[in-house]
Amino acid sequence: MVVVAIDGPSAAGKSTVAKGVAKRIGYVYVDTGAMYRCVTLFALENNVDCRKDEEVVKLLPNIQIELCVDGRVLLNGKDVTLDIRKQEVVANVSFVAANKGVRLFLVDLQRKMADDKSIVMDGRDIGTYVFPNADVKIFQVADVKERAKRRYKENLLKGIECTLEFVEQDLQRRDYIDSHREFAPLTKADDAIEVDTSFMTIEESIEEIIRIIKNKLGDNKDE
Ligand code: C5P
Repeated sequence: MVVVAIDGPSAAGKSTVAKGVAKRIGYVYVDTGAMYRCVTLFALENNVDCRKDEEVVKLLPNIQIELCVDGRVLLNGKDVTLDIRKQEVVANVSFVAANKGVRLFLVDLQRKMADDKSIVMDGRDIGTYVFPNADVKIFQVADVKERAKRRYKENLLKGIECTLEFVEQDLQRRDYIDSHREFAPLTKADDAIEVDTSFMTIEESIEEIIRIIKNKLGDNKDE
């Protein structure tokens, strides 16, 4: 089974691009950020402080996450696709993602997903920790101002109130925590290919990544 790993900082457009790439080459798309968001939502719903590692770990046996092929995310059977995008989850997810117990639990699930199918998986540690032998590794970046503008526009469309300054500061805050955590931090794998999408459209980014995949796999992976 083939694994395409796409890592990079927050709001670099990874999930949109990864979804598009997976659709075009007929692989299954796996959004690992949604999994960290589910654990965060569950902790908040159970009034557990997301910074208290041991308390969050105690919740794990009661958490079942399903990533549906149609893009819906189910937490213990309930559709939480929209709930996991809420501001309260965004504010706390980096703390939960720095929890080693949570990471080991989710990484185990992520590895099992590639047992019987080819996948495009996006996250922060896919090429470095989850699949260090992934067939193709992409590190997708974009200028922070550009990322903030994109996320700000998305928020407005979703009716989430915010300012551009807040979005930019929040992205920098999350990137800092993600890159400085002790266990499996956000970092570019030595053998990852960097793709800067600051001045690319979504379609151009998808095409560039498919070109890299084709080159790496040495065959025709386009449509
Ligand atoms: O990708 P997304 O923004 O949905 O991820 C939410 C958060 O989950 C990130 O800010 C990061 O803290 C964490 N994450 C992670 N490792 C991954 C995927 C996401 O630490 N593989």
